[in-house]
Amino acid sequence: MNKISNFDDSHVSISYFKEEIRKFVTKRNWEIHHTPKNLIQAISIEVSELSQCLLFKDDKIENILKDNFLLSNLSDEIADVFIYLLSLINILNIDLTSSFINKMEKNRVKYPIKEFNDGKYYKK
Ligand SMILES: [Mg+2]
Repeated sequence: MNKISNFDDSHVSISYFKEEIRKFVTKRNWEIHHTPKNLIQAISIEVSELSQCLLFKDDKIENILKDNFLLSNLSDEIADVFIYLLSLINILNIDLTSSFINKMEKNRVKYPIKEFNDGKYYKK
């Protein structure tokens, strides 16, 4: 994937993304359309577009990584999902870092390493 100057995952914070989306939405007066329901539906549609990228295609990771056109499409759709997710986070005034930390702690309790160390997803 292309990198634009120093803007990559190791140099940009969540607050940068949140503010960029907030400015983008505000300058276009799109806040009136950004209800939780609309944004959740938009996220769902973008997830479907992401899924469509692999519909009826070979989904082996080694083949996907060799296909620059497919990778570019996947990257665009992932960004669309992220953009709408950030819009939802903004209007709900959610601190994503806190959400992540809290949910990961719940996941560690729900999926203890002692029980989930062999690749299975569900308890027997
Ligand atoms: Mg899209």
